[in-house]
Amino acid sequence: MPDIIHLLPDSIANQIAAGEVVQRPASAVKELMENSLDAGATSIKLIVKEAGKSLIQVIDNGMGMSETDARMSLERHATSKIRTTDDLFRLRTMGFRGEALASIAAVSQFELKTRQAHQELGTQILVEASEIKNQAPVACEKGTSISVKNLFYNIPARRNFLKANPVEMRHIIEEFQRLALAHPHVAFVLYHSDDVIYDLAPSKLSQRIVSLFGKSFQGQLAACQEETALVKVAGYIGRPESARKTRGEQFIFVNHRYIRNNYLNHAVTSAFEGLLTDNSYPFYVLFVEIDPKHIDVNVHPTKTEIKFDDERAVYAVVKAAVKLALGKHNLAPAIDFMADINIVNKLSQNISNEQYFNEQFSSSLNRSSLQNWEKLFEDTPSESKLFQKTEPANTLRFESSLNRQEVEEKQDTGAVFQLQHKYIIRSARTGLMIIDQQAAHERVLFEKYSTRLKAGAGNSQQSLFPQTISLSPADFALVMEIENELISLGFRFEVFGKNALLVSGVPAGCGSSEKELFEGLIEQFKKNQSELELPLRDNLALALARRTSVKSGQKLALEEIESIVEGLFACSKPNFSPDGRPTFFTFETSKIESYFTR
Ligand code: ADP
Ligand code: MG
Repeated sequence: MPDIIHLLPDSIANQIAAGEVVQRPASAVKELMENSLDAGATSIKLIVKEAGKSLIQVIDNGMGMSETDARMSLERHATSKIRTTDDLFRLRTMGFRGEALASIAAVSQFELKTRQAHQELGTQILVEASEIKNQAPVACEKGTSISVKNLFYNIPARRNFLKANPVEMRHIIEEFQRLALAHPHVAFVLYHSDDVIYDLAPSKLSQRIVSLFGKSFQGQLAACQEETALVKVAGYIGRPESARKTRGEQFIFVNHRYIRNNYLNHAVTSAFEGLLTDNSYPFYVLFVEIDPKHIDVNVHPTKTEIKFDDERAVYAVVKAAVKLALGKHNLAPAIDFMADINIVNKLSQNISNEQYFNEQFSSSLNRSSLQNWEKLFEDTPSESKLFQKTEPANTLRFESSLNRQEVEEKQDTGAVFQLQHKYIIRSARTGLMIIDQQAAHERVLFEKYSTRLKAGAGNSQQSLFPQTISLSPADFALVMEIENELISLGFRFEVFGKNALLVSGVPAGCGSSEKELFEGLIEQFKKNQSELELPLRDNLALALARRTSVKSGQKLALEEIESIVEGLFACSKPNFSPDGRPTFFTFETSKIESYFTR
């Protein structure tokens, strides 16, 4: 038999490698921008069209490449960043595998223009699917500009696999945000088609955070700093009350590389212990600096995972840094003055921004721990309950109130009452029924909203005064993606300037303010998205049900109790909440009897 093994041609080998390195437009964005940073650029411009599907262009003012290097850069395993295995343990650059350009050029129509400072003319190379079509001298700016056109044009299966533009754009924005955060001293611009999404001047980290995530972050940041012989931690944490319902804005960078690491994430959140309400996630941007010899970044091709040789030591320092920041700001002496807004304003003219943020933060942190302290008392039973405010049960307006005859029938079945503001107790044919008020109401609302989504025309409650909401670019992209579904639910809104909406109506029956409801819904939707794998409509119906349901611990009026019970048993799946928790159980009469040993 003849020998049958042969080496694959480069174009195929590169395409295979591309499968790992370039999953979607955002991966190409990341690789190209990291190369620009490695080349020492102080200004990086990213231009994308059709969420990167038709064009991704990265223009930098970095060191550029010589004519030969430009050609070499497209070969697989061609890199200027390491020479020996030892270099792997001294890494200071983002790249080192020498795979990105070769991979990207294998699956796109690729154009590279580059010029080093001392050269008069630069080089231009055109490549299609790994094949060099042309190389010629060109007049261009110092630095490098790479255009990636029609990504995956030669692999239709991959191209068809890409998600809708808003989804792909969200991934791009995420990569952009991470790099922009990690390098606040570098200027970044992001264009999507002709819109400027971000235009970030070189700045301090705190300012970069505000320009990326919005002015609402201004009063929320506390500086964080801790250093040991092994590692240095620095950055900002958000104050506990500003914690969000989604994990969205949490960033850890190790040697300026964004990483995902649940262990370190835990270090941060455990430092917040007791200051956060359930299921809320604090904001943080933390930079861990550690000698590269103590880490291995080689575990994952896209390099968002790394290994530390002493993970526990890093954990301890991160936790200490966050604790210290929380503690320091808690004890800051300026607290009392800071409560007076005029003094805050006066002081802020004389102190640096950083200090200002910190002190603002401290006063609110103190307030929050006070609230927690008060909560302790709320939770103790008996007499403190007597002093509890009975909240008017108007957070929800019930659309269907029972008619007289139905009410009488219900009363016939016996007493219905609320236990500990959590459970509805009613007598049933076979015994005593205990209903979890929140789980039950979530089920009722979930089915109601699902029906609206299916019908495609939800009743809207028009606002007297429409409210504007400004969103992060990523959230805005999300809203555009689910626009039709939001309208089906009963939301009415229009685009109102960049990343902003004018909300003029909310689903009928949802009592809270437009802004709160809308923002809350988006938060909840994202949370579900990251935790549950649900079809879009189910997720949306669940998110809105969660936001608008009565909560465990909420006092209910009799008609609300009745409405929940009636609604629950009209549901198609009354036994479980939409996420599978039981809604009620029946304490059988026989069981009751057994207690009395009859
Ligand atoms: P890696 O970054 O892992 O070295 P790449 O395929 O991303 O591999 O890039 C190959 C080489 O091309 C780099 O090592 C670098 O020398 C050069 N290069 C890539 N992009 C740029 C750029 N924007 N400016 C200057 N040189 C670049
Ligand atoms: Mg690279």
